Amino acid sequence: MVDVPLTSIDAHEALGNRVLVVDDDRLTLALLEDVLTSEGFQVTAVASCLEALQVLDDSTPRFNFLITDWELRDGRGVELIQYIRESYIGGYVYTLVITAHENRGYNTKALDAGADDFIPKPIDRDELVSRLRSGERILKLESRLTNLANFDSVTQLPTRRMFEALAAKEWSRTRRCRLPLSCVVFDLDFFKRVNDTYGHRAGDQVLRKIAELFRDSSRQSDLLCRQGGEEFCILLPETTLEQASSWAERLRAKFAAEIFELDSVVLNVTASFGVAEILADMEELPELIEVADQCLLQAKSSGRNRTISCHHLQNESTKAGSGGIGDVFEGATARDGMTAVISRLKPESTVVDVSYFFLQFRISSAPVIDEEGRLIGIVSEKDLMSAAKQQNPQLIRIRDIMRNNVVTYDAETPLQVIWEFLARVSIRGVVIVDHGSPVGYIGRQSILRWLANSVWARSEVNTDVAHGRLERIQTIAHVSQMLEEEAGHIGQVIQDLPPFEQQALVVGTVSRMQELINDLLSSSGGLTLSCHQGRERTKSECGETQQRLHGLLGNMLTSGPH
Ligand code: GH3
Ligand code: MG
Ligand code: MG
Ligand code: MG
Repeated sequence: MVDVPLTSIDAHEALGNRVLVVDDDRLTLALLEDVLTSEGFQVTAVASCLEALQVLDDSTPRFNFLITDWELRDGRGVELIQYIRESYIGGYVYTLVITAHENRGYNTKALDAGADDFIPKPIDRDELVSRLRSGERILKLESRLTNLANFDSVTQLPTRRMFEALAAKEWSRTRRCRLPLSCVVFDLDFFKRVNDTYGHRAGDQVLRKIAELFRDSSRQSDLLCRQGGEEFCILLPETTLEQASSWAERLRAKFAAEIFELDSVVLNVTASFGVAEILADMEELPELIEVADQCLLQAKSSGRNRTISCHHLQNESTKAGSGGIGDVFEGATARDGMTAVISRLKPESTVVDVSYFFLQFRISSAPVIDEEGRLIGIVSEKDLMSAAKQQNPQLIRIRDIMRNNVVTYDAETPLQVIWEFLARVSIRGVVIVDHGSPVGYIGRQSILRWLANSVWARSEVNTDVAHGRLERIQTIAHVSQMLEEEAGHIGQVIQDLPPFEQQALVVGTVSRMQELINDLLSSSGGLTLSCHQGRERTKSECGETQQRLHGLLGNMLTSGPH
């Protein structure tokens, strides 16, 4: 399934005729080899289980048939069949067992063990050939079924199922080798109108032509598919966002310039494109496709026949109130919702120094800056751990392991824009920059905390809404104690630290204390009825906002894995 060209159903049709023959009897082996070769099969003949396993593992293309003796010097033929059924990757292998025994029980055993047929000894040439021809018919059918599942019948492009299997491999390779990887998704504009006006057959012709242009614009190593309907997807290995965007832009222009000459009409078709590149904290392929999908949505909503890439998305501005809770966000910027950046790393620091620093101050990730203080990458605990597994970590520099594709937002960006972005994609957070320099981080947790506090700050005094009075007092007491411990810790250790570590200790502890103070505030339940600057709200208005917010928070909590 995997060792075939991927772009066409035709390439898939060709069926191999490679046979592996295993027998420890030299005469039988020679006879089989002779008969099969003269019948046009490509034969590999070996005399033991061990050799057979080696050949199975080493040779490409893969085998289509296995003919094995029942008893071998070092094992049994059925063991080879079991191995093939469980571990041999790819399409079906048709297996036959040679049985010298008159005993019919052996034949049954062979079939039970997964063999497809058996050949009685002494071998009859004609019978052998017709049994193999029968096997060929089964293999052809199997290959046809696989094609139906893996290739779309209208466009002959790989289906989503096929794409996902191959893309998963590409994803791990990219991650392992720290290579760029981009994804482009596109969807035909107003395609329903084509069907409605010219009929479904015309629609299919357009889809076929689009697929042809799409395929012709891609490289052998690209993975493309028809996602479904009139939507297509391509994974571009070793391609940066800029390169992928210009590729998408060229294809978009090609579609727009194409004149589709159908049976009776001539028409134009356009498509909208979304482009994304693998981001630092993406764990799985669907996250990448998700971001590209978001860009595509934006390309649709901002006029169609255009390409939107992940960078543009960051500058997108949302009208306050569009999500129904705009009033909660009114006036709030990224700066208000972010957790301050405690430390910035230099690219020439070593993995060992930074690991030590992370451990000491309980930091899980940090931005890397250049000489002017501008953000150039990000490093997480996980990056350090995988780097430490390689060669001597004392010699590895941060510049070589940092990830440089990070989603950033300016500190003055409306907080709602970031909230909406994080609600749509499953990446964990974004870095906040001020004139290019990293100043904070907004993760899903911090923005949820901000929202929850906002609800409480705007709500009436109503201690029954979230939890009871007693529980609330216990929470306040517990959080206050944690605050005390954090502050006490500074006093205990600060004298023993060198100056640069003193600063990191204070900043780190204070950041945690700030979060605890937020917790205290939210547990206080809010003390005023006034929930908006300059205007008193009615009770029902406050209740409504709160209800909407709870609904949206619920959605956000269930929308992604984090
Ligand atoms: P938009 O620009 O928002 O994408 O508009 P649209 O009309 O393209 O999108 P919509 O989702 O409303 O309609 C998609 C259409 O694509 C409807 C469906 O009939 C058509 N379509 C999906 N698969 C096929 C197919 O295999 N053949 C044909 N002829 N049409 C298809
Ligand atoms: Mg034998
Ligand atoms: Mg469409
Ligand atoms: Mg669509």
